[in-house]
Amino acid sequence: MVKDIQLRLTLKDEERSDILLIKAAQYLSIPKSEISGIKVLRKSIDARKPKIMLNYKLSVYIKEALPEKSNYQFNYKDVSKAKPVHIIGFGPAGMWAALRCIELGFKPIVLERGKNVQDRRRDLKAINQDHHVNEDSNYCFGEGGAGTYSDGKLYTRSLKRGDVRKIFENLVFHGATEQILVDAHPHIGTNKLPKVVQNIRENIIKYGGEIHFETRVTDFNIKNNKIESIVLQNGNEIPTARVILATGHSARDIYYLLDKKKIQLKAKSFAMGVRVEHPQHIIDSIQYHCSGERHELLPAASYSLVQQVKDRGVYSFCMCPGGFIVPAATANGEVVVNGMSPSRRNNKFANSGIVVEINVDKDIPKYEQFGELKGLEYQKNLERIAFTSGGRTQAAPAQRLTDFVEGRLSTTLNDTSYQPGLNSSPMHSLLPKLIGSRLRKGFQAFGKKMRGYYTEEANVIGVESRTSSPVNIPRTETLEHPEISNLFPCGEGGGYAGGIISAAMDGERCAEAAIVGL
Ligand SMILES: Cc1cc2nc3c(=O)[nH]c(=O)nc-3n(C[C@H](O)[C@H](O)[C@H](O)COP(=O)(O)OP(=O)(O)OC[C@H]3O[C@@H](n4cnc5c(N)ncnc54)[C@H](O)[C@@H]3O)c2cc1C
Repeated sequence: MVKDIQLRLTLKDEERSDILLIKAAQYLSIPKSEISGIKVLRKSIDARKPKIMLNYKLSVYIKEALPEKSNYQFNYKDVSKAKPVHIIGFGPAGMWAALRCIELGFKPIVLERGKNVQDRRRDLKAINQDHHVNEDSNYCFGEGGAGTYSDGKLYTRSLKRGDVRKIFENLVFHGATEQILVDAHPHIGTNKLPKVVQNIRENIIKYGGEIHFETRVTDFNIKNNKIESIVLQNGNEIPTARVILATGHSARDIYYLLDKKKIQLKAKSFAMGVRVEHPQHIIDSIQYHCSGERHELLPAASYSLVQQVKDRGVYSFCMCPGGFIVPAATANGEVVVNGMSPSRRNNKFANSGIVVEINVDKDIPKYEQFGELKGLEYQKNLERIAFTSGGRTQAAPAQRLTDFVEGRLSTTLNDTSYQPGLNSSPMHSLLPKLIGSRLRKGFQAFGKKMRGYYTEEANVIGVESRTSSPVNIPRTETLEHPEISNLFPCGEGGGYAGGIISAAMDGERCAEAAIVGL
C-alpha cells in the first residue's frame, strides 16, 4: 500500500537522519517496521515566521517495495539513416528539439556557432580576465546556449505549454541530481550544468544525430516561401526540408538577417534594469529572521520582489543566492550583466536582476525609425552606454544602492563577485528616466517590504538588459513562420520562452511540429 502524506518539521527535527521514518510512522499510527520505503515528492521551506518549518509531501510505501524506475522512460532509437531536421542553435530549445526528433525517429542535425562546453571555458576566462569577448563563444553562445553557464534555476510559469515533469526527468536521465524532482525551487548550479549538457550531446550523437560546433549560420536561400538551403559562415550551403530556428535572444545577427530578407518580425515588450548585489548574510538575516549566520541546514536565502511604479512593473528577476554576477555580453563594445550560482550556493554574495517593464508601443518613441527592431536598438544603446561608463572594458558601471536612489556618485564601492571589476558611475543619471526613476522608487519600496534590503552595503551594477527577447519571430498554429512554411521559430529567440525549462518544452513542441509531413 502507498499513502501520500504531508509533514511539517522543525529545523531541530531535520537534524535527525531518520526523522521522516519516525514522523511518517507516527502520522500513520503504524510501526516503523511496516514502512518499506519513503519517497519525497516535494520539499519546501516556510520562513514566513521566526520559527522556520520544513514542509514535506511524501509517498509512504507500506509493506510494498519502492519502485526502482521513474514513470518516464526515454527510448531513443537509431536515427542515423532517418530523414533530417536541421536545428540552428544548441541551447535548451535546440537540445530538446534534437532529443525529441530522435524519440520521434528523425535525425537532428544541429548547427551551433559556439564551441563545446570544455573549449568554451577558455573564452569565459578571456572575458573575465582579458576583457575580450569572443563573439561566437561566451556566456550566451556555445554548447548548451545561455543555459550552460547559467544559474540553472528550473522554475517556469509555462506549465500549460508542455510536460514540465518530463523535462525534469530527462535532466535527471542525463545526470542532474534527483533533488530537482523534489525541491519546490529546483536548481542545478553552474558547476553541474556542463556535465549534463555534455551527456545530452553524447546521447544525441550516440543515436545518430549530428552536432556541428563552430558552425555559424549566416543566411538562408529561400524559394517559393521555403528555405531551400542554409548558408554557413564558411560559404557552405546545406540543403534542408525543415529548419528549427533556436538561436536565442542574443543572436542579433539573425534578427538583422531576417529583417534584411523582409521576413516578418514583430517588436515585443521586454524588461531592462540593473543587477543588485548584497552580502548574502543580509538577505539571510532578513528572510530567516536571524542576526548571525543562517542555520546550517538552510540554503542561502532568496527573495522575489515586485512593485508597480507609474504604470510599469518593477521586479526582481533571476535571483541568485550565494552566486556571482557574470559578464554576459556577446560582442565587444557592450556591457551586459547576468547572474549564476554554483550548486551549493555558497558564495558570500546574493544578486538579482531588478528590471522595469518596457512597453515597445508606448515607451520608446525615438526608436520608431528602427521598425520592428526598435526594442533591440534601445537595448543595444543601453549596453553601449554601460560599456563607455564602465571604462570601455568589461568592467561594469556601478553605484552603491543608497547613492543610486539618492542621486549621488559613490566615492567607494562595496566588494563584488563580478570578476572584470566595477567602475563607480552615476547610474542614476546614465539610465534613461523611464528605467532609472522607476528603479529608484522600486528600491525604496523593496526596502519597506524587506527591512535591511535598502542598504549602502549593496551595489547596483549595470546593465541587466537581456531578460527576454525584444523581438518576436511570428509563427502560426502549426508553429511555422507565416511566410516561410518550413521555418519553425523556437525558444527564447522567437519570443516563446523565458528560461531553461520553457525553452526546452518549446524545443520539443517545435520538433513535433517540424516532422509533420516530412
Ligand atoms: C548567466 C545566465 C544565467 C541564467 N540563469 C537562468 C536560470 O537560472 N534559469 C533559467 O531558466 N534561465 C536562466 N537563464 C536564461 C536561459 O539560459 C535562457 O532562457 C535559455 O538558455 C534560452 O534557451 P534557448 O535555447 O532559446 O536559447 P539560447 O540558450 O540562447 O541558445 C541559443 C543558441 O543558438 C546559438 N546561435 C545563435 N546564433 C547562431 C547562428 N547564427 N548560428 C548557429 N548558432 C547560433 C548560440 O550560440 C546558442 O548556443 C540564464 C541566462 C544567463 C546568460
